[in-house]
Amino acid sequence: MASDPKMNPQSGLLSAEANQAAALAAYGGVLTVDLDGIIANWRKLEKTAVPAECSAVIKADAYGCGAEQVSRALSKAGCKTFFVATIEEARKVRAAVPEPTIYVLGGYFQNTGEHYAQINCRPVIGDLNELAEWDVFCRRTGWNGGAAIHIDTGMNRLGLTLSEAQAIIPRINAGDHGITLVMSHLVSAEQLNSPVNAKQLAAFRAIASEFSGVPAALANSSGIFLGAPFQFDLVRPGAALYGVNPTPEADNPMQPVVDLKARIVQTRNVERGETVGYGGTWTARRPTKLAVIAVGYADGYFRAASSNDGTRGAEVIVAGKRCPVAGRVSMDLIAIDITDLPPNAVRRGHMVTLLGEGITVDELAHHFGTIGYEVLTSLGHRYARVYKGGNVVEPLAKPAPATAPEQPPSPPPIEQPASPPPLPS
Ligand SMILES: *Cc1c(COP(=O)(O)O)cnc(C)c1O
Repeated sequence: MASDPKMNPQSGLLSAEANQAAALAAYGGVLTVDLDGIIANWRKLEKTAVPAECSAVIKADAYGCGAEQVSRALSKAGCKTFFVATIEEARKVRAAVPEPTIYVLGGYFQNTGEHYAQINCRPVIGDLNELAEWDVFCRRTGWNGGAAIHIDTGMNRLGLTLSEAQAIIPRINAGDHGITLVMSHLVSAEQLNSPVNAKQLAAFRAIASEFSGVPAALANSSGIFLGAPFQFDLVRPGAALYGVNPTPEADNPMQPVVDLKARIVQTRNVERGETVGYGGTWTARRPTKLAVIAVGYADGYFRAASSNDGTRGAEVIVAGKRCPVAGRVSMDLIAIDITDLPPNAVRRGHMVTLLGEGITVDELAHHFGTIGYEVLTSLGHRYARVYKGGNVVEPLAKPAPATAPEQPPSPPPIEQPASPPPLPS
């Protein structure tokens, strides 16, 4: 955070509140990630899958929620296995959590063995060439940190074919094979009645049973809810941890964990007949009051959520009420129609809610023309990021006193950089 050298934030020139307001003003929006909510979701998935182990998929910066913070919180809560997409992601997670097993879904590339050994993580091997290269590395260096074998059962993305997998069974039977997990990935797990689920299950069950003594994993978030036969020894939820509904045909069993607020930079009145925003696609049909907020498509609020004279766009919660987007979402700004709010309900500087207070990731995904996964992984990097919770109370620890002091009201504190830069004297 840049600071005005004349205004030493530690010198007491500004009150704490004013400091906080000034800090907030440096950002258009505040993204709050509820780590306790993520832990609660993980525990719920764990309970649903017991006795299978519940891992956590934290690729793509934990679906935009922050891989370091999420891995630290879940690790404290008891999660022992994490999945990321790349070695570089694994490196960041390893720096945050020294103990847990980390698998890299993206597979093994030639000459990357040292990286795996350096940070003690495991490749998910999805091709016989990868396996041969991995074996060469392990033989040459004596590294035996383990690797997963990914078998394709219908996705046709990564993974050994069933016959390729069959061909390595003799190696499994010979022992000392270095394979620590055998896995496959479901194509349509969110569709309860898709016949593909049963087909993949049957294929995976047959091949996994031949990898004797090797733990097996099939289910992603939605797969966990397909029932016990899909859960095997380990489940791999991602999206559900972050509040996406893993059972889109039913109510969401997960709790929301992301809250996104944006600052009102202006309120203004427009006459009936005037248009709003680029292209003039939205026309005021009455004397209209607008709130212009400091978030746009560059912050991951998709332009597809725009409205025009023909179609309604997304909604934003202003002073507790849902208000529609007026006109096109632009890069850094969105206009909201707040005509129906009581006069003086809001003013410049107030925060509005884009995500949270009943607006779910899945609702935004609907307006954005996509899925909750893309909403989360698109969350911008211009927000002030605030992390709530994550200080896990161990199951055996004493309960908190009943009269715990109340949390201070919003706005929440801005996360400070670990070590603030030296102040000019
Ligand atoms: C991303 C991913 C997951 C997690 O899927 P969700 O639907 O987010 O739960 C699990 N397994 C593999 C192989 C993945 O790529």
